[in-house]
Amino acid sequence: MLTHDDYTVAWIAPLEVELIAARLMLDTKHEKLPQSPVDHNVYALGSIHGHNIVIASLPTTGNTSAATVVTQLRNTFKQIRFGLLVGIGGGVPTRTDNGPVHLGDVIVNKPERNHSGAIQYDHGKALEGHFRRTGYLVPPPTVLLNAAQDLSTEQAITEDDLVAPHLQKINTRLPALRRYRYPGPDRDHLYKSDYPHRTEGSSCHSCACDPLQRVDRNANESQNDEIYYDRSSRIVVHRGTIAAGERVIKDGRLRDELANAHGALCFEMEAAGVMNDFPCLVIRGISDYADSHKNDGWHGYASATAAAYARQLFFHMPVDEVKQCAVGLAST
Ligand SMILES: [Zn+2]
Repeated sequence: MLTHDDYTVAWIAPLEVELIAARLMLDTKHEKLPQSPVDHNVYALGSIHGHNIVIASLPTTGNTSAATVVTQLRNTFKQIRFGLLVGIGGGVPTRTDNGPVHLGDVIVNKPERNHSGAIQYDHGKALEGHFRRTGYLVPPPTVLLNAAQDLSTEQAITEDDLVAPHLQKINTRLPALRRYRYPGPDRDHLYKSDYPHRTEGSSCHSCACDPLQRVDRNANESQNDEIYYDRSSRIVVHRGTIAAGERVIKDGRLRDELANAHGALCFEMEAAGVMNDFPCLVIRGISDYADSHKNDGWHGYASATAAAYARQLFFHMPVDEVKQCAVGLAST
């Protein structure tokens, strides 16, 4: 019988669509353990490749909710070494060493010289809530960075995709799991950043957003491109800076402005709550381009690709090395 102290890794899946993908990535599911009446989190327990993992979701999105959930989790599971924050994010339609960023791609934060690879870009604005901010997000632990690098280098010299096969753990023939299917390149539309969506609440199709205002990315990308990936069989991963903030970015011009200022590849809303004092790697599947045309069409697939990447990381992390990591101080 496992106890609370046997669990060493936390997997935070903020939304339900992300939680379902996370649970389906487990090798083995474990029985629930008793928890104190003051801990209101709902946990899913299990293992991947010998690592015992606690999965938790959030009651609402955002930094404050994330901070509260992580604090409770670490009080209940005192041997947790670090976390993975796994979910969807708004992508910046730019280019990295791995080619152009598209919907369904995965962005993983990678520390730069002077920061953790996750920047709280709106620090100092509209700040209130239950946790103290430092403005500096702690960097991911070495064991996770080594795992990400090992996966990246192994992928570079392997023809087969190491991550995409994990998508098969989600049976998309089941009606409730159909939303995790790959929507296809025909549904990956990027509009010019100064062309706003026509009617809020309607799809681009039904409110007739002008197809001529789309950026023809195929003009620059083809099978002749030196880094062309067929995304029906491959999950493209970009490592770089993730912009963490308080609000949803849904404006193409603001997206570009912030992305240029911070060198960011992706926007999200929970890292600042989690990484304030907890070492964590942020893994985000791109579900939209952070503009007014954003919709839910890619939520399922982007949740799935992020979860599949997180699962593969456990195959690059020796269990003993994880146990040798220091246990972070539980926040109070
Ligand atoms: Zn639109």
